[in-house]
Amino acid sequence: MSTSRRKFFKNTMLAASCAALGPVGRVSAGNRLASFVSGKTRIAKEFEPVYLALEKKGELTKREQALWQIFKKCKLCPRKCEVNRLAGENKICRATNKLRVHSAGAHFGEEKPLVGEHGSGTIFFSNCNLHCCFCQNWEINHRGDGSDISHKKLAETMLGLQERGCQNINLVTPSHVIPHVVRALRIAISRGLRLPLVYNTGGYDKLDTLKLLDGIIDIYMPDFKFQDSKVSYKYCEEAKDYPEVAAAAIEEMHRQVGELTVDAKGIARRGVILRHLVMPNNLAGTDKFVKWVASKLSKNTYVNLMAQYHPEHKAFDYPEIARRITAKEWKQAVDWAKLAGLKRLDL
Ligand code: SF4
Repeated sequence: MSTSRRKFFKNTMLAASCAALGPVGRVSAGNRLASFVSGKTRIAKEFEPVYLALEKKGELTKREQALWQIFKKCKLCPRKCEVNRLAGENKICRATNKLRVHSAGAHFGEEKPLVGEHGSGTIFFSNCNLHCCFCQNWEINHRGDGSDISHKKLAETMLGLQERGCQNINLVTPSHVIPHVVRALRIAISRGLRLPLVYNTGGYDKLDTLKLLDGIIDIYMPDFKFQDSKVSYKYCEEAKDYPEVAAAAIEEMHRQVGELTVDAKGIARRGVILRHLVMPNNLAGTDKFVKWVASKLSKNTYVNLMAQYHPEHKAFDYPEIARRITAKEWKQAVDWAKLAGLKRLDL
């Protein structure tokens, strides 16, 4: 099970290595540098991220342009606010035309296939399009904590993570900033980026936008949080269409990249990693979720069933989610997953 992101922030903040997006990826110790260089060489020989082919064909520029067009009357995500983000307007996600990032660093608490020896190169974007009332990172996702940075700086951050030996670039909550990400990616490609991109999302993604990411993203890592529209409406800023939107989005992700494939060392190279947070009183609909995965995706889907729910932010306003799950609820969730025939459970 992955370490909580809150814990990750505390660790990274204490290390003061990434809060201000300063020298991300710089390495001072000689031994460590040597291992990163050898890591980089290994990647160059054995792996080529999908976006390189798109860039060679000139297609990545077109995709980027199409994404910026959507920004003008923003329908990047299912909220379809239709505000002019390019002119600095904002609505539900609170993001404007600025690229705002909270932190970046090597994260060792993500799923094992993402971590390897040197960690997942995680970049946390400020703000969010879903706004769950129990968000563990509400300071970043609701309050928008972070700093505005340039595309060049984001590209340098990606390259710094690669220099550090990270296995991938893990884009956390990228749905509302994806035009910025693609622009930065193109700068980073021109300077040698070769790591796969992980699209790490709450699952509230629009099909049209995802189709523009086909051939850019190697690894999709969505949550599938809820199966009941009344529940998502109540806890996630009236997102009553969440269950159907997330289901369609995850099917599209699966169509693009398939089941998770790993290299000889068990490092993720391409595919879907699906996350599901078990909630108190089965409010996440875990029984329905596991059946859906088995029937609509595949029993071989990599599923991280997560037990670490704990009330945060406004969760205390709702008595039914103002506690952790019990051992009995967790056992029930695991039994459901096994009964559904899921073979790649990360517990
Ligand atoms: S990305 Fe933000 S502004 Fe655009 S549609 Fe979604 S919530 Fe609205």
